[in-house]
Amino acid sequence: MQTIRTTCPYCGVGCGVLATPDGGGGLAVAGDPAHPANRGRLCVKGAALGETAGHRGRLRAPRIHGREAGWDEALDLIARRFCETIAAHGPDSVAFYVSGQLLTEDYYVANKLMKGYIGSANIDTNSRLCMASAVAGHRRAFGSDTVPGLYEDLELADTVVLVGSNLAWCHPVLYQRLVAAREARGTRVIVIDPRRTATCDVADLHLQIAPGSDAALFNLLLAEISRRSEVCPDDLENIQEALAAARATSPAVTGLAHSQLRQFFDLWMHSDKVVTVWSQGVNQSDSGTDKVNAILNCHLASGRIGRPGMGPFSVTGQPNAMGGREVGGLANMLACHLEIGNPDHREAVRTFWNAPRMAQRSGLKAVDMFRAVEEGRIKALWVICTNPAVTLSEADRVARAIAGCDFVVVSDIMAQTDTMRFAHVALPATGWGEKDGTVTNSERRISRQRRVLTPPGQARDDWRILAEVGRRMGWGASFGWQHPAQVFAEYAALSGVAAGLGSDFDISAHAEISVAQYDALEPFLWPQSATKQGGRFFGDGRFHTPSGRGRMVAVTPRPPQPVSEAYPFRLNTGRVRDHWHTMTRTGLSPRLSRHLAEPYLELHPTDAAQLGLQPAALAEVTNAHGSAVLRVLVSDRVAPGHPFAPMHWTGETAPTGRVDALVPGATDPVSGQPALKSAAVAIRPF
Ligand code: SF4
Repeated sequence: MQTIRTTCPYCGVGCGVLATPDGGGGLAVAGDPAHPANRGRLCVKGAALGETAGHRGRLRAPRIHGREAGWDEALDLIARRFCETIAAHGPDSVAFYVSGQLLTEDYYVANKLMKGYIGSANIDTNSRLCMASAVAGHRRAFGSDTVPGLYEDLELADTVVLVGSNLAWCHPVLYQRLVAAREARGTRVIVIDPRRTATCDVADLHLQIAPGSDAALFNLLLAEISRRSEVCPDDLENIQEALAAARATSPAVTGLAHSQLRQFFDLWMHSDKVVTVWSQGVNQSDSGTDKVNAILNCHLASGRIGRPGMGPFSVTGQPNAMGGREVGGLANMLACHLEIGNPDHREAVRTFWNAPRMAQRSGLKAVDMFRAVEEGRIKALWVICTNPAVTLSEADRVARAIAGCDFVVVSDIMAQTDTMRFAHVALPATGWGEKDGTVTNSERRISRQRRVLTPPGQARDDWRILAEVGRRMGWGASFGWQHPAQVFAEYAALSGVAAGLGSDFDISAHAEISVAQYDALEPFLWPQSATKQGGRFFGDGRFHTPSGRGRMVAVTPRPPQPVSEAYPFRLNTGRVRDHWHTMTRTGLSPRLSRHLAEPYLELHPTDAAQLGLQPAALAEVTNAHGSAVLRVLVSDRVAPGHPFAPMHWTGETAPTGRVDALVPGATDPVSGQPALKSAAVAIRPF
């Protein structure tokens, strides 16, 4: 059989995959040596893709109220109910909740339908849970959501700082590249994390900071950069305010010894080339945007940005979180990095789309969207390629809200998920290996995902389903694509309009792309014109702010919400190495489940002894929001009082391992990202 070049559907590293179907529904998988992200490497999840493909558990036909239905009946019903709801209650009474695992073409069509035709911006994505604080921090500092650097910067750096990032488990191929560079050229690695994760195995320095004190630590670094006269104040906005806030920060809040702080400052400042990588430990916080800006401040102030081997670097959790940002999948963005709050941008997009009812303001972000569902303000909801009844904070409350919604459509590849059980209309979607499109990885590289396998039953591509609904709502001329290449070409043409308005996102060279060219499209960095800086941004000192200068942000660190007498432990949540999200695919592989087979609670020995919990006992973890029952893993990798539990496990009836049921609905006030890393809980033997 023919080998097809495609891209891994899991993390934001975006590895190239060589997939060879066996003709019987399975496929062999290898890393693509020609893909710049991974150069032939794959992690264990990517290597097991062949074991997780296939039709087990798949939804094969549309269902209406649980009975099998034809596509026409299902699509007519959706179009009619959305039209009726909009007519009766206005465009803001409907919402789409989508996913960083959608392909860019799916995202584009959903965004166009909601923001240009329905006339609301109530489309948000589970990427809100992953990198919204990075987006907001970039926009505050740079004037745009632009990742300045490239993966190769981790290999060119003298020092790599990893903040709130277990790169070894969550971005394994990037970690492998870092480890190889470290062996080749002695790269120093600093890990900043309240947990001692697998990534610490290669750390020259591990700073086990107090949870939530990242902003304080980087404020202290900024003050030290200033004290050592490294700051370039003329080049930056707001420098004095940022420095004043930094100098007012107390070292005590970090929980670190003076000697540890000194070692960190020395390593950072004695290295010309520093890359600071951050991930969910920074973003998933009720002060996540400030934490991001505290990091960006240090790179701006010291000029370590946008040049080979230096810069701040946000690594995204999902395969197309970046594509979603670019295409306007967030409720507060327009496509191609245009601003929904800018009348000129709205008008340009309206004109390009020939849109009858352009959204005029930001829509509801994820947590607020499900509050609106709960309160009956959202009366028709379409959930696409995600499982919010498990993964959103206060997951039980979210599940109850969806259950009470007047009309719920769920598009998914699986027949049974925690969210699917509330669907009035269930739509079978194609999954990885069955659909064609593009994704963008964490370094702004756009790659093709290609069709390798035959979809089960009547499954359809998400963009086709959305376009069909758009046609049935009366907008046939604007949703008439026949091939994803046509969607991509339209999107590329829109990026040319955006570039004319000053947007950095420009892929307009592909506006005339043919189906054959799309099929043959090689991975490429955007913007293609940025090659003068080796594909990096801001190394020339020019930013996308109105003044053209980088903008410092005065950050006053805020501690996380306090624990209480009733709920004395601060639960941290995250991922394990071999599973992905709610395990709809990785759960099919016994090999992947062997690493960590069941939901667990990593508990410090002191806490375990105090609670009378032996290793492998069951613990019940509770608070006002929910409960979970987890296997105890006694370990000094976590600090006393700060247990950890992974977020992958699902379940419809108690007891379950659904840890996001325990996470309160607090969000970052700027980005709207939920604070998934901090839940005050009680623990007792089960
Ligand atoms: Fe897939 Fe990420 Fe592993 Fe690469 S590192 S193979 S993209 S899960």
